[in-house]
Amino acid sequence: MNKYKNIFFDLDRTIWDFDKNALDTFQEIYLKYELENIFKSFNNFHKTYIKHNEKLWSDYRQGKIEKIFLSYKRFSLTLEEFGIKDDDLAKRIAHDYIKISPTKKQLFPFAHETLEYLHKKYKLHIITNGFNEVQFTKLENSNLKKYFLNVFTSEDAGAQKPNPLIFEHALKNANAKEEESIMIGDDLQVDIVGAKDFGLDQIFFNPYKKKHSENITHEINSLEKLQEIL
Ligand SMILES: [Mg+2]
Repeated sequence: MNKYKNIFFDLDRTIWDFDKNALDTFQEIYLKYELENIFKSFNNFHKTYIKHNEKLWSDYRQGKIEKIFLSYKRFSLTLEEFGIKDDDLAKRIAHDYIKISPTKKQLFPFAHETLEYLHKKYKLHIITNGFNEVQFTKLENSNLKKYFLNVFTSEDAGAQKPNPLIFEHALKNANAKEEESIMIGDDLQVDIVGAKDFGLDQIFFNPYKKKHSENITHEINSLEKLQEIL
Protein backbone atom coordinates (compact mmCIF):
# COMPACT_ATOMS: atom_id res chain seq x y z
CA MET A 1 0.00 0.00 0.00
CA ASN A 2 1.41 3.32 -1.07
CA LYS A 3 1.71 5.74 1.83
CA TYR A 4 1.54 8.92 -0.26
CA LYS A 5 -1.57 11.01 -0.74
CA ASN A 6 -0.10 14.32 -1.85
CA ILE A 7 2.49 14.92 -4.53
CA PHE A 8 4.21 18.28 -4.71
CA PHE A 9 5.79 19.14 -8.05
CA ASP A 10 8.27 21.77 -9.02
CA LEU A 11 7.25 23.37 -12.35
CA ASP A 12 10.24 24.85 -14.22
CA ARG A 13 12.69 22.27 -15.58
CA THR A 14 10.63 19.47 -13.99
CA ILE A 15 7.44 19.60 -16.07
CA TRP A 16 7.74 22.76 -18.15
CA ASP A 17 10.91 22.78 -20.26
CA PHE A 18 12.17 26.15 -19.13
CA ASP A 19 15.39 26.12 -21.14
CA LYS A 20 13.84 25.17 -24.47
CA ASN A 21 11.03 27.68 -24.01
CA ALA A 22 13.43 30.44 -22.97
CA LEU A 23 15.68 29.69 -25.94
CA ASP A 24 12.72 30.03 -28.33
CA THR A 25 11.78 33.33 -26.72
CA PHE A 26 15.31 34.72 -26.91
CA GLN A 27 15.50 33.85 -30.60
CA GLU A 28 12.32 35.85 -31.20
CA ILE A 29 13.61 38.77 -29.18
CA TYR A 30 17.00 38.65 -30.92
CA LEU A 31 15.32 39.09 -34.29
CA LYS A 32 12.75 41.65 -33.17
CA TYR A 33 15.33 44.06 -31.69
CA GLU A 34 17.96 43.28 -34.34
CA LEU A 35 20.40 42.36 -31.60
CA GLU A 36 22.79 40.96 -34.20
CA ASN A 37 24.04 44.56 -34.53
CA ILE A 38 25.11 44.55 -30.89
CA PHE A 39 26.11 40.97 -30.09
CA LYS A 40 27.30 39.69 -33.51
CA SER A 41 26.00 36.21 -32.65
CA PHE A 42 23.01 34.79 -30.84
CA ASN A 43 25.35 32.73 -28.71
CA ASN A 44 27.12 35.85 -27.39
CA PHE A 45 23.80 37.33 -26.34
CA HIS A 46 22.47 34.12 -24.83
CA LYS A 47 25.59 33.12 -22.88
CA THR A 48 26.04 36.61 -21.45
CA TYR A 49 22.40 36.75 -20.41
CA ILE A 50 22.59 33.36 -18.66
CA LYS A 51 25.61 34.50 -16.65
CA HIS A 52 23.92 37.69 -15.40
CA ASN A 53 20.58 36.00 -14.87
CA GLU A 54 22.09 33.33 -12.61
CA LYS A 55 23.93 35.86 -10.48
CA LEU A 56 20.85 38.08 -10.12
CA TRP A 57 18.57 35.13 -9.27
CA SER A 58 20.97 34.17 -6.52
CA ASP A 59 20.82 37.76 -5.19
CA TYR A 60 17.02 37.67 -5.45
CA ARG A 61 16.81 34.37 -3.56
CA GLN A 62 18.89 35.87 -0.78
CA GLY A 63 16.54 38.83 -0.62
CA LYS A 64 19.20 41.30 -1.77
CA ILE A 65 17.24 42.64 -4.76
CA GLU A 66 13.62 43.10 -5.84
CA LYS A 67 11.83 41.21 -8.60
CA ILE A 68 11.44 44.31 -10.83
CA PHE A 69 15.15 45.00 -10.62
CA LEU A 70 16.02 41.39 -11.48
CA SER A 71 13.67 41.31 -14.45
CA TYR A 72 15.34 44.16 -16.41
CA LYS A 73 18.82 44.29 -14.85
CA ARG A 74 19.74 40.89 -16.34
CA PHE A 75 19.23 42.45 -19.79
CA SER A 76 20.82 45.82 -19.05
CA LEU A 77 23.99 44.12 -17.75
CA THR A 78 24.01 41.86 -20.84
CA LEU A 79 23.78 44.91 -23.11
CA GLU A 80 26.38 46.81 -21.08
CA GLU A 81 28.92 44.05 -21.55
CA PHE A 82 28.67 44.75 -25.29
CA GLY A 83 29.03 48.50 -24.82
CA ILE A 84 25.35 49.50 -24.80
CA LYS A 85 24.05 51.48 -21.82
CA ASP A 86 20.32 51.58 -22.51
CA ASP A 87 17.95 50.85 -19.63
CA ASP A 88 14.94 51.62 -21.84
CA LEU A 89 15.88 48.91 -24.31
CA ALA A 90 16.60 46.51 -21.43
CA LYS A 91 13.15 47.21 -19.99
CA ARG A 92 11.42 46.65 -23.34
CA ILE A 93 13.24 43.34 -23.79
CA ALA A 94 12.43 42.32 -20.20
CA HIS A 95 8.78 43.12 -20.79
CA ASP A 96 8.70 41.03 -23.97
CA TYR A 97 10.50 38.16 -22.31
CA ILE A 98 8.02 38.01 -19.41
CA LYS A 99 5.12 38.29 -21.88
CA ILE A 100 6.28 35.78 -24.50
CA SER A 101 8.10 33.02 -22.63
CA PRO A 102 5.18 31.74 -20.50
CA THR A 103 3.12 31.28 -23.67
CA LYS A 104 5.60 28.65 -24.89
CA LYS A 105 4.47 25.10 -24.46
CA GLN A 106 7.40 22.70 -24.57
CA LEU A 107 7.21 20.18 -21.75
CA PHE A 108 9.47 17.31 -20.73
CA PRO A 109 8.60 14.02 -22.45
CA PHE A 110 5.67 12.10 -20.92
CA ALA A 111 4.51 15.13 -18.87
CA HIS A 112 0.84 14.86 -19.87
CA GLU A 113 0.69 11.05 -19.75
CA THR A 114 2.30 10.95 -16.32
CA LEU A 115 0.14 13.71 -14.84
CA GLU A 116 -2.94 12.11 -16.33
CA TYR A 117 -2.05 8.88 -14.51
CA LEU A 118 -1.03 10.53 -11.22
CA HIS A 119 -3.88 12.96 -10.81
CA LYS A 120 -6.39 10.10 -10.67
CA LYS A 121 -4.53 8.47 -7.78
CA TYR A 122 -3.15 11.41 -5.80
CA LYS A 123 -3.70 15.04 -4.94
CA LEU A 124 -1.23 17.00 -7.03
CA HIS A 125 0.15 20.43 -6.16
CA ILE A 126 2.83 22.76 -7.48
CA ILE A 127 5.47 24.48 -5.37
CA THR A 128 7.36 27.00 -7.47
CA ASN A 129 9.81 29.83 -6.97
CA GLY A 130 8.60 31.68 -10.07
CA PHE A 131 6.53 34.84 -10.26
CA ASN A 132 2.74 34.46 -9.91
CA GLU A 133 1.56 35.89 -13.23
CA VAL A 134 4.24 34.03 -15.17
CA GLN A 135 3.65 30.62 -13.57
CA PHE A 136 -0.14 30.81 -13.91
CA THR A 137 0.18 31.74 -17.59
CA LYS A 138 2.44 28.73 -18.21
CA LEU A 139 0.03 26.31 -16.53
CA GLU A 140 -2.91 27.76 -18.42
CA ASN A 141 -1.24 27.80 -21.84
CA SER A 142 0.27 24.33 -21.57
CA ASN A 143 -3.04 22.89 -20.43
CA LEU A 144 -1.52 21.72 -17.14
CA LYS A 145 -3.79 23.51 -14.70
CA LYS A 146 -6.41 20.76 -14.73
CA TYR A 147 -4.07 18.30 -12.97
CA PHE A 148 -3.28 20.43 -9.93
CA LEU A 149 -5.40 21.25 -6.91
CA ASN A 150 -3.07 24.00 -5.73
CA VAL A 151 -0.27 26.14 -7.06
CA PHE A 152 1.94 27.51 -4.30
CA THR A 153 4.29 30.26 -5.42
CA SER A 154 7.10 31.84 -3.49
CA GLU A 155 5.36 35.16 -4.02
CA ASP A 156 2.33 34.01 -2.02
CA ALA A 157 4.34 32.08 0.54
CA GLY A 158 6.71 34.99 1.15
CA ALA A 159 9.66 32.59 0.95
CA GLN A 160 11.62 30.74 -1.73
CA LYS A 161 12.51 27.06 -1.80
CA PRO A 162 14.68 25.73 -0.08
CA ASN A 163 13.35 27.87 2.78
CA PRO A 164 11.21 25.58 4.99
CA LEU A 165 8.57 28.33 5.21
CA ILE A 166 7.36 27.68 1.65
CA PHE A 167 7.02 23.93 2.31
CA GLU A 168 5.19 24.68 5.53
CA HIS A 169 2.86 27.10 3.71
CA ALA A 170 2.16 24.54 0.97
CA LEU A 171 1.49 21.55 3.23
CA LYS A 172 -0.68 23.56 5.57
CA ASN A 173 -2.82 24.97 2.76
CA ALA A 174 -3.05 21.63 0.98
CA ASN A 175 -4.05 20.05 4.28
CA ALA A 176 -1.29 17.49 3.73
CA LYS A 177 0.70 15.50 6.27
CA GLU A 178 4.49 15.32 5.89
CA GLU A 179 4.58 11.52 6.03
CA GLU A 180 1.95 11.23 3.28
CA SER A 181 3.66 13.70 0.95
CA ILE A 182 6.49 13.61 -1.54
CA MET A 183 8.30 16.37 -3.45
CA ILE A 184 9.45 16.04 -7.07
CA GLY A 185 11.94 18.50 -8.54
CA ASP A 186 15.01 18.99 -10.70
CA ASP A 187 17.06 21.21 -8.41
CA LEU A 188 19.11 19.21 -5.95
CA GLN A 189 19.57 21.98 -3.41
CA VAL A 190 16.37 23.96 -3.87
CA ASP A 191 13.80 21.16 -4.30
CA ILE A 192 15.38 18.00 -2.94
CA VAL A 193 17.58 19.07 -0.04
CA GLY A 194 14.95 21.71 0.77
CA ALA A 195 12.20 19.09 0.98
CA LYS A 196 14.41 16.61 2.84
CA ASP A 197 15.40 19.17 5.48
CA PHE A 198 11.72 19.96 5.94
CA GLY A 199 11.00 16.26 6.49
CA LEU A 200 9.52 15.19 3.16
CA ASP A 201 10.40 12.24 0.95
CA GLN A 202 11.81 13.34 -2.39
CA ILE A 203 12.09 12.30 -6.03
CA PHE A 204 15.00 13.90 -7.85
CA PHE A 205 14.19 14.49 -11.52
CA ASN A 206 17.65 14.33 -13.07
CA PRO A 207 17.18 14.11 -16.87
CA TYR A 208 20.80 14.99 -17.65
CA LYS A 209 22.09 12.50 -15.07
CA LYS A 210 24.16 15.01 -13.13
CA LYS A 211 26.49 13.36 -10.64
CA HIS A 212 25.96 14.00 -6.94
CA SER A 213 26.43 12.36 -3.56
CA GLU A 214 23.14 13.26 -1.92
CA ASN A 215 21.04 10.54 -0.31
CA ILE A 216 17.61 10.78 -1.95
CA THR A 217 14.39 8.75 -1.61
CA HIS A 218 14.10 8.17 -5.40
CA GLU A 219 15.84 9.42 -8.52
CA ILE A 220 14.50 9.36 -12.08
CA ASN A 221 15.71 10.64 -15.44
CA SER A 222 12.34 10.51 -17.19
CA LEU A 223 8.89 11.50 -15.92
CA GLU A 224 7.63 8.20 -17.28
CA LYS A 225 9.41 6.43 -14.40
CA LEU A 226 7.03 8.01 -11.90
CA GLN A 227 4.44 5.42 -12.82
CA GLU A 228 6.75 2.71 -11.48
CA ILE A 229 7.29 4.50 -8.17
CA LEU A 230 3.86 5.96 -7.51
MG1 LIG B 1 12.96 23.58 -11.29
